[in-house]
Amino acid sequence: MKWLHWYFRTNLLVRILIGLAAGSLAGIVFGPRIEWVSPLGDVFVRLLKLIVMPVVVFTLIVGAASIHPARLGRVGIKALLLYTLTTGFAVAIGLAVGNVFQPGAGMKLAGSAAGGSMGIAAPSLLQTVLEIVPLNPFKAITDGNMLQTIFFAILFGMGVAYLRESADPRVRQAADTVFAFFDGCAEVMYKVVNWILQYAPIGVFALIAVVFGQQGPEAFGPLAMVTVSVYAALLLHLIVVYSGLLVIFRIHPLKFLVRAREAIVTAFVTRSSGGTLPVSMDVAENKLGVSKGVYSFTLPLGATINMDGTAIYQGVCVLFIGFAVGAPLDFGQQMTVILTAVLASIGTAGVPGSGAIMLMMVLNSVGMEVEQGTSVAMAYSMIFGIDALLDMGRTALNVTGDLVVTCGVAKVEGELDETCWQADAPGAAAPEVV
Ligand code: ASP
Repeated sequence: MKWLHWYFRTNLLVRILIGLAAGSLAGIVFGPRIEWVSPLGDVFVRLLKLIVMPVVVFTLIVGAASIHPARLGRVGIKALLLYTLTTGFAVAIGLAVGNVFQPGAGMKLAGSAAGGSMGIAAPSLLQTVLEIVPLNPFKAITDGNMLQTIFFAILFGMGVAYLRESADPRVRQAADTVFAFFDGCAEVMYKVVNWILQYAPIGVFALIAVVFGQQGPEAFGPLAMVTVSVYAALLLHLIVVYSGLLVIFRIHPLKFLVRAREAIVTAFVTRSSGGTLPVSMDVAENKLGVSKGVYSFTLPLGATINMDGTAIYQGVCVLFIGFAVGAPLDFGQQMTVILTAVLASIGTAGVPGSGAIMLMMVLNSVGMEVEQGTSVAMAYSMIFGIDALLDMGRTALNVTGDLVVTCGVAKVEGELDETCWQADAPGAAAPEVV
């Protein structure tokens, strides 16, 4: 089978890019008729989702168990600080760009609204914080509740870390056995990730083809300005905030992007930070040289609470809706948006489209309720229509942010193996997987 030979011999990223280009073209040429390929994309997303919880549980337990509890606290605080800070900048950039581009200005929407997605209640912040503590950790894992799972896995891993230092040799040996077991489980999952990545180019082709098939050239109607604004703000955040942060940490931004590309492209096409997590972890370990003790904690946490792209999107879209309904946001309202968008992005799940649901929470905070029949609901439905396009960019930035902060924290902690960044190092070779 010649083409099979070609497929497995070709560099993975080249194959993914071919899938991306061919999928976009097929979507534009065939339009909605291309939808029959969507199961090929769904399989890819399902495969990624399949490994998320096991990867998180195993790597987090091993990660937490590998470092002394005092260190875990230091890593956690640094990561949390950086995550929150960058998200604050993100909303501010979204608002600034929105004010310059003024998407939706002069539209003056009125009348009844269409759209079936109205009336979904966003959870309160207090509730979100309380629910981090699981009543039943096993249920948290089976339900795919990321924050609860992180909480339990860290607790468990810390327990193992303490017992590995125990004075009682029996307890020490038992803890070492538990550690070795979970370490083995984590390694097995990484192997499975590598296998799944082999399917990525086909999955990417199907996912992109369906998006372009559905949206078609109409996607570039009155909403083109929103799309341009969101992407301009995403790019600005990447160039100013992330590059600035990397330079502060003495990490070369371009080299970083090149090495992190697989995770960024996966996030772009899957539109899910959670789904991209196994790839981000693979990239952190093998391409960026981050120690497991750092990334096993910072990446799942980032995929859950750090959504800079989502925060930017929310900033731009709130402005768009304000302009579109003829009630542009004043300065005070925009300050409120900064606060609520940071909180909303923290509460946004790393799955496709969830940022659009949390947008309602931000809209409520400035008195724009999404209620059926209102012009706000109408403007909101318009955004909802192109959500896939916006979600791709924001998810790519969300994942980039997780990796930037992870590298930064690793660097400060002396846990970044920079030898693998050298051009001739094995990790710098083509992103080929077994
Ligand atoms: N899809 C985004 C993510 O997974 C979340 C969002 O919808 O904004 O990161």
